[in-house]
Amino acid sequence: METISFFGRSLPVLYETDCAIIGGGTGGAAAAISALEEGISTVVIEKTNALGGTQTNALVSPMMPTHVKKQKVNTLITERLAKENIETSDGTTACSWFNTEALSYVLEQLIIERGGFLLYDANVIDCLMEKGCLTHVVINTCQGLAAVKAKTFIDASADAVLARSAGVPFQSGNHNGENQQISFRFEMGGIDIQALRAFMKSQNDNFCQIDNQNFFEIAMVPGKGHVLEPLFQKGFENGDLKEEDLRYFQAFTQPGKPGVMSFNCPHIPGIGSTTSPILRSKAVTKGREMIRRLTGFLPRYLPGFEHSFLLKEASQLGIRESYRIKGKYVLTENDYVKRARFADGIARGDWYIDVHSVTKEEAAEAKLSKGEYYEIPYRSLVTHEAANLIAAGRHISSTFLMQASLRIQPTVRDMAEAAGIACAYSVKQGIPLNELDGAVIRQHLGMTEG
Ligand SMILES: Cc1cc2nc3c(=O)[nH]c(=O)nc-3n(C[C@H](O)[C@H](O)[C@H](O)COP(=O)(O)OP(=O)(O)OC[C@H]3O[C@@H](n4cnc5c(N)ncnc54)[C@H](O)[C@@H]3O)c2cc1C
Repeated sequence: METISFFGRSLPVLYETDCAIIGGGTGGAAAAISALEEGISTVVIEKTNALGGTQTNALVSPMMPTHVKKQKVNTLITERLAKENIETSDGTTACSWFNTEALSYVLEQLIIERGGFLLYDANVIDCLMEKGCLTHVVINTCQGLAAVKAKTFIDASADAVLARSAGVPFQSGNHNGENQQISFRFEMGGIDIQALRAFMKSQNDNFCQIDNQNFFEIAMVPGKGHVLEPLFQKGFENGDLKEEDLRYFQAFTQPGKPGVMSFNCPHIPGIGSTTSPILRSKAVTKGREMIRRLTGFLPRYLPGFEHSFLLKEASQLGIRESYRIKGKYVLTENDYVKRARFADGIARGDWYIDVHSVTKEEAAEAKLSKGEYYEIPYRSLVTHEAANLIAAGRHISSTFLMQASLRIQPTVRDMAEAAGIACAYSVKQGIPLNELDGAVIRQHLGMTEG
């Protein structure tokens, strides 16, 4: 086996491929399917044991609604979920629903069927470079340190792990350096969803508009007129909840998992930074305490939850935003407002600027109407510093506010599809990723106006 020298140690090179993808999450898995569809050899290096990242390990579902045209990878995933008997459409909203186990299985199958390699439980910790090009990533594995060699690299780590270690400049947080709110999601089982629906209807709840018994959503945000607010207030007055438990509450059903709901909460208070390892650990402890209170409260106060139980805590924190690379183009909220178009636009977004702020709500007023969108240029994925590196995910080159729109799952998947195509084009044509004209990738994606 080939080896490389790393600080005087000899490391085995586990794979040598056309494309190495760091992180098999929302973006990384989509990028892998795309690169494999283009016929290049591809390895995904993932620090956990499941693909899907925030979608699966952080238990974040459903995919936010979007009205932009569905691209190939998104379609492949949806079709495959359907084969697993997972109903993705609720018939009312443009959300795409899934359950976490089905999604990580489907992503894995789509990659291995196309000949992709998966390296699980492998944490990328550093890289080697020559003349402005990455040659290897260094990974921590059960065997100790090892390396992967590739011609092109996709940083899909969501934390810009590879880009930062390659010397790419980055930003984090808003003008005060504050990151978006962290959540620690969980699932409960044993819920009588029909009884819950009946209770919500009896209270004239008009929050959940979906008229389909398999899809259901509840929420409580103080001061927004949600019918659950008095119940939460009562729990607070009785000492069963703390004030911090009342800040944000939301839960969704999970297709294919009867009696189960997935909770988009708690919002963990007092953690202003998602880039501190110490604070991330404190967020886990604090979140777990809050989950205990919520899962104790719900069976006693909310009809339908009488026999419910805590089924699962997320194995990954819900990080909305951490690092953002500074690439060849920084996409801004002005591009959102202008509904920007670019000659090298390779993905489209239409979700609003959705900031879950730690302190006050911070958002641009503008919301796009159905059919309106902005484009993400290829240049926001590539950098001046590393010729054969491309980013895909929430950490691409954008401002804090703009990131709050482009971070949603369908948009991340679409930019990742473009990244996979770009790697194949780069390998086949011998053009470095950061010199490649993104208009070519746009054309390959068949993106025309409208
Ligand atoms: C609480 C919360 C609620 C949200 N709600 C919604 C919603 O309802 N709908 C929606 O569409 N979007 C939602 N979002 C946004 C969306 O889910 C994320 O922005 C998106 O999934 C991020 O995709 P990604 O590929 O950038 O990161 P991820 O999906 O997190 O993928 C990153 C992957 O990289 C891996 N990784 C990281 N570092 C390393 C390393 N050093 N070595 C190897 N692997 C590594 C991770 O394990 C992970 O698998 C929400 C986000 C959060 C946090």
